[in-house]
Amino acid sequence: MHEFNLIQKYFTWENPPVDVITAVGDDAAVMGIPADQQLVTSIDTLISGVHFPKETSAHAIGYKALAVSLSDLAAMGATPKWFTLALTLPEIDQSWLHSFSLGLKTLAQEYQCFLVGGDTTKGSLSISIQVMGLVNTGSALLRSGAKSGDKIYVTGTLGDANAGLDSLLNGSKILASEAREFCHRRLNYPTPRLNESFVIKDLASSCIDLSDGLLQDLSHILNASKVGAELDLSQLPLSPALKALDTPKSLSYVLAGGDDYELLFTLPEENEYKLLTEMGDRVTCIGSIAKDIDGIVDKAGKHLESSGYNHFYEAKI
Ligand code: ADP
Ligand code: MG
Repeated sequence: MHEFNLIQKYFTWENPPVDVITAVGDDAAVMGIPADQQLVTSIDTLISGVHFPKETSAHAIGYKALAVSLSDLAAMGATPKWFTLALTLPEIDQSWLHSFSLGLKTLAQEYQCFLVGGDTTKGSLSISIQVMGLVNTGSALLRSGAKSGDKIYVTGTLGDANAGLDSLLNGSKILASEAREFCHRRLNYPTPRLNESFVIKDLASSCIDLSDGLLQDLSHILNASKVGAELDLSQLPLSPALKALDTPKSLSYVLAGGDDYELLFTLPEENEYKLLTEMGDRVTCIGSIAKDIDGIVDKAGKHLESSGYNHFYEAKI
């Protein structure tokens, strides 16, 4: 199959939205941006064996590659619009391409993000997706807005993906079979929290998506905002799968694990009521921001060191 036919068959989508003037097929894509909006863009690369296990299905790879990029738009409070795809393939495998493009399209249609172009090359399997989204001018949600007294919240449950990865790569048997399946799904099919972002963006003072573990990602907000944080470790939202584990183990998955793609955000206390009215138990308060704390401490005042994202990897607290 020629590269041109491959692009035509798998990556030339029908019915482009009206703001897409030219998509796949010209030298570059042309899109219209309303005068009162700003463009928000982010790119992520997934490399086989580094960012996902080699055995991952093509469908999951397509889904996840777009999900992790959409998650960055969610963290900025942006509405997804378009994306480009740079695909490096070791060979042309039609059944792989079919599943990959289905996984990609499923998520793209759910959040109405249209494929407008890309690049296709030969080499070790790698997928780069650049997403583009829009915000009302001046309203992008940044990492730098956290203030002393703000509450720290997260969406969803934490640590599931890292537990799933540990079981896949290290053969860890600590999860029961149903729990293992749940965690594998959380690893392979992360949900970009765009619906949640839609509510959070008008209430939060800062936001980040959790890709490298809670401590590391929280520290990005703290550094950008020049504040510290106290975490209540007893309040970390855990799925039943992680609740069934020893506390040190589940804590290590949450604090130093990666790939959650939940949102971590701060908000002034006066917005809490509104947040909880709209989001209920889809969000959990896990701590608060303070100017006089250096870094991150627990309720007892003990410093929590950010060991960063462990490539699965000997998660340490
Ligand atoms: P050029 O040589 O002008 O860069 P290419 O042959 O790389 O053109 O691509 C031809 C067209 O196909 C372009 O519009 C490009 O955006 C699109 N394209 C190439 N690869 C992909 C892909 N993997 N997904 C979507 N569009 C692609
Ligand atoms: Mg090209």
